[in-house]
Amino acid sequence: MVTYKCFKCGKQISSKNLEKRFACPNCNSKVFYKPRKHITKVKAE
Ligand SMILES: [Zn+2]
Repeated sequence: MVTYKCFKCGKQISSKNLEKRFACPNCNSKVFYKPRKHITKVKAE
């Protein structure tokens, strides 16, 4: 199972959830990233 992470609130969302509706259930954001071995870390402060 693939788990995505919401770019906005950081909530983890399974790909199954995104099949129904491609939006974060927590903040409604539509920007996600896949936490994988090659990750570009961006810190916004
Ligand atoms: Zn979110």
